[in-house]
Amino acid sequence: MTASSNAQARVTAVGIHRVGDAALGIEWADGATSEIPLREIRLACGCAVCRDELTGAPLLDPASIPANIRAYRIAPVGNYALTFDWSDSHSTGIYPWEMLRALADRSESEGR
Ligand SMILES: [Zn+2]
Repeated sequence: MTASSNAQARVTAVGIHRVGDAALGIEWADGATSEIPLREIRLACGCAVCRDELTGAPLLDPASIPANIRAYRIAPVGNYALTFDWSDSHSTGIYPWEMLRALADRSESEGR
């Protein structure tokens, strides 16, 4: 642990696993675990195609994402993010742990 004193604020996952075809399970470094529906992850894509780079406004129409979207491949980007190859042929998004944790917290507060 040679990181700066801010290290506690950084969200890091220590493990990921698939939950069936439709969700991703994440074990966080702080001991928490999350299950995030894959479709919610796809909808949160922050790439330049899906989100306006200047305003952050979503450009992606949720209706264009099928309910049964799959991730063909889930791969780490360094130690700070994941990338997905989606079944709708989209693969440019990078999902930092902070974003996935925020998604997980949001979907839990919605009761799913
Ligand atoms: Zn995207």
